[in-house]
Amino acid sequence: MQHPSKGTIDCPDCNRPLITNEGFTSWCECGWNIKKIRPNFELSLEDELIYHSFKNQSETLMNEILSSQSIHKKIQSKHFLLYSFSFLVMALNISLITFSFYLLVFHYTNVLAILLSIVLLFICWQGRIRFQQIDSPFLPRDEFSNTIQLINDIAKQLNVAKPDYYLYDLDFNAAVMRCGTFNSKRAIIVGLPLFYVLNPQEKVALISHELAHFSNNDPKRSIIIGSVYHSLITWLDILQPECLWPSHQPAIEAFFEFLGNICLYLISRIPSSLLVIFHLLNQQDSQRSEYYADLLGATISGKEAFNTMLQNFEYDHIVELCTQRITVQKDLSINFLNLLTTMISEVPAREKKRLITVSERFGLAIDESHPPTFFRQKVVDKLAPSQGQYTLSSETHSKIQREIEAMKDRIHFLKIDEYKEQLMLQSSW
Ligand SMILES: [Zn+2]
Ligand SMILES: [Zn+2]
Repeated sequence: MQHPSKGTIDCPDCNRPLITNEGFTSWCECGWNIKKIRPNFELSLEDELIYHSFKNQSETLMNEILSSQSIHKKIQSKHFLLYSFSFLVMALNISLITFSFYLLVFHYTNVLAILLSIVLLFICWQGRIRFQQIDSPFLPRDEFSNTIQLINDIAKQLNVAKPDYYLYDLDFNAAVMRCGTFNSKRAIIVGLPLFYVLNPQEKVALISHELAHFSNNDPKRSIIIGSVYHSLITWLDILQPECLWPSHQPAIEAFFEFLGNICLYLISRIPSSLLVIFHLLNQQDSQRSEYYADLLGATISGKEAFNTMLQNFEYDHIVELCTQRITVQKDLSINFLNLLTTMISEVPAREKKRLITVSERFGLAIDESHPPTFFRQKVVDKLAPSQGQYTLSSETHSKIQREIEAMKDRIHFLKIDEYKEQLMLQSSW
């Protein structure tokens, strides 16, 4: 693959000469053409409020952590508010169920009371707690023995128990979760494309960050958080009418439906406001957990590898471009993992600087539960040690790469299938 060609232009705003790289956005430090990237989620009126608080909240939190030098104690204290709110929502759910049974038992001759109790029970049932089930394939223990050994070694360093399940998927990401009956099992999910492109110490950093979430009990907490979200979103979905004035009805019927919709809309403001409050509380809490997992993870890998690992989360667009190329190309010798490695290794320094600048100015983050990447890197840089506690030898690293390479063709074709499916979904909307 040819290296992207370079050129120069003058900035239209400040006339400074700028280096440009073909295929990448030209931009200037003065602010010209630095694209504001909004987070990757849909924004309703309530979301706007959350989005606007996002960067400010992240920045305040970062400054608090930088000045306190320790975040562990503060993490604990903030859980109280979040848990209290969660139990309030759960208590509301239980009260509605009790009220429904009261109507059924004491007013069973009243048709309206029976209808209301059925509706309430339906709403509560839809919003019930759901335990996560495994939907990723397992890393076969014999074929991925070196990867699994690395995960176990890091777990030992962090003083956390080994995961029960080692899973993989095709995402450019990694995660930990609780799953199975009553979420009793601990699982780590390794996104093979991301894991493959990382260098040895970056691999250590990624796994350390994920396992550090177990040390802080984050996956356990997410059972409660997830179920509260699920209840509130379900209530909102059921109650909130799609539109207030139904255009397809004759005027008189439309008027009565309009009155009904207004009532439903007003009632739906209850779960909608609860959702905003809960989201703001959880946003701060989850960002705090991420900073904590970063600092703990960086003590294992060392801060430099940790921060270059984080940089990879800005390359979503490159992963997408790579997937598009393998889907349309005819040359079967070009493999997804090889092409992705080349494309990421060729990201020009100026593009890396643009992504950091966007993260710094507009709060670009992986998602709303993570602080902007720039802030995370700043905290790690200031507070984590240079030398990590664990070094992955180049010999073991080569073995890990070979384990993934054995799945290269499978990953390639699965990635193409996934992309085609996504395109079909988009075209059917
Ligand atoms: Zn300029
Ligand atoms: Zn995390």
